Amino acid sequence: MVDYHLHTSRCGHAQGNPAAYLAVAVEKGLSEIGFADHFPLELLGFTPQEPVTMQAAELDAYVNEIKQLQKQADIAVKLAVEVDYFPGKESRTKDVLSTYEFDYIIGSVHYLDDWDFTHPALQKRFDEVNIDEIYQQYFTLIQQLALSGIFDVVGHLDVIKKFSYFPRHDWSFLVEETCRILKKADICVEVNTSGWRAPVKEVYPGVFFLSKCQEMNIPVTLGSDAHRPQEVASGFQWAKLILSKLGFKEIATFSARKRTMRPLL
Ligand SMILES: [Zn+2]
Ligand SMILES: [Zn+2]
Repeated sequence: MVDYHLHTSRCGHAQGNPAAYLAVAVEKGLSEIGFADHFPLELLGFTPQEPVTMQAAELDAYVNEIKQLQKQADIAVKLAVEVDYFPGKESRTKDVLSTYEFDYIIGSVHYLDDWDFTHPALQKRFDEVNIDEIYQQYFTLIQQLALSGIFDVVGHLDVIKKFSYFPRHDWSFLVEETCRILKKADICVEVNTSGWRAPVKEVYPGVFFLSKCQEMNIPVTLGSDAHRPQEVASGFQWAKLILSKLGFKEIATFSARKRTMRPLL
């Protein structure tokens, strides 16, 4: 089992240093972990209203700390980042990421224009918008993210549902259209168990989405999105059960941006 989505206290809204996350991973019997802390938004040319990522000045220390941990750890430790996708900022994003040797890069959408729709303090805005349009806007960004070729993994694919706002109309066409594009882009989908800890209480992506991924043979990997050490591998027994019931036989692992499929044990 791998947990490919761990944060650290460097992003400012998580607790614990990498060694503390590693200790829990070892205790829980994981074979591999990956740190994917929030890449500094300022380096992407975006100024958030509230700081939610590492500061640019922290990035080198983060990279060095994970590299140091790799040498001491008894299990494989991967160096990654979770990077926001902003349309129009693709070449800048590519450039700034190319300076580092990451094992994989998770691409995520947390912003619609300048609204961090995943932030609990900004949740009220869902009451003021047209949810059908918001879903359309969100999945258009996800499709652009996939086709940009910048990222190896798409993070929490349907996090737009975080606060349990769902379209009034059937949105399965959006799921199917998105899956076709993910397949074309050859990008991996993260099964992110933090959805079970969010108000929606559903895995990201949901079971229907995952069944479409399975049908289309889109690779998946596993991440807890832990923001505290005790959240490492949280919900993984359920995730594994769902994946095997849906017929998934393998999960994706990464080294130096190269994907390898491993049996789902
Ligand atoms: Zn995220
Ligand atoms: Zn995250």
